[in-house]
Amino acid sequence: MAGQVAASRAAADRPGIGDLGEARILVTNDDGITAPGLAALLRIARGLSRDIWVVAPETQQSGVSHGLTLRRPLRIRQLAPKRFAVDGTPTDCVLLGVHEILSDRAPDLVLSGVNWGANLGEDIGYSGTVAAASEATLFGIRAIAMSLDIVGERPRWATAEAIAPGLIQRVAAAPWPADTLVNVNFPDRIAEDVAGIRVVAAGRRKQGVGIDRRTDPAGQPYFWFKDWTGDPREAGENDLAAIATGAVTVTPVTIDRTSHAGLVALRAALDTP
Ligand code: MN
Repeated sequence: MAGQVAASRAAADRPGIGDLGEARILVTNDDGITAPGLAALLRIARGLSRDIWVVAPETQQSGVSHGLTLRRPLRIRQLAPKRFAVDGTPTDCVLLGVHEILSDRAPDLVLSGVNWGANLGEDIGYSGTVAAASEATLFGIRAIAMSLDIVGERPRWATAEAIAPGLIQRVAAAPWPADTLVNVNFPDRIAEDVAGIRVVAAGRRKQGVGIDRRTDPAGQPYFWFKDWTGDPREAGENDLAAIATGAVTVTPVTIDRTSHAGLVALRAALDTP
């Protein structure tokens, strides 16, 4: 990456943004530029500020995590003023959004979502929605990933639209620890029935991956990973348990992958200070 990119990385805690009215907000997602959740997030963002920019993938990118396109050219297609599609991943969108499209002035806030389906527990590692927020966080930009749990037939975007504006304002106004993004999930309930907002750690599900093994007409096997849903592996406070009670979950996620317990254990094992 270029030196300019490295220089823009912020390591220190930052104060909150008290007033989003003047904020430059970059909106992205992993479900693609035509996704209904992106339209919902755009309505949310436009209620917060006038300086709203959309840079989203041309195609569905769910599950691509923090994928970066390195071996083919990337194209930016402008669809309208302040609205762009990129034929790449959510990470590509944030990189090109921040360093190409908005190279004159970086966004103050990146909003990613609203994802079709929750991103709870181990989903956080697979999610392109969360990865877009991680990419912004690498450059010291505050970022919030938002997802909507869908248990029933239809997504309740109206719930996200009712709750997100106030929640985004409160989260943005809070002091923002270094290297931290905020992962939000809205429950599959009408807004009036939502059981509050809970700040919780990410949980882990009991079961592993569901693999659907099938046979093609030539007799060869093929596989689908099924949506895996399940109960939290551990009881107590976590996002899986909280959303099951009908609450909105708010989980701060760090992009520092160092295991601090591992540092201690390996320094002792390898006899280094
Ligand atoms: Mn998605």
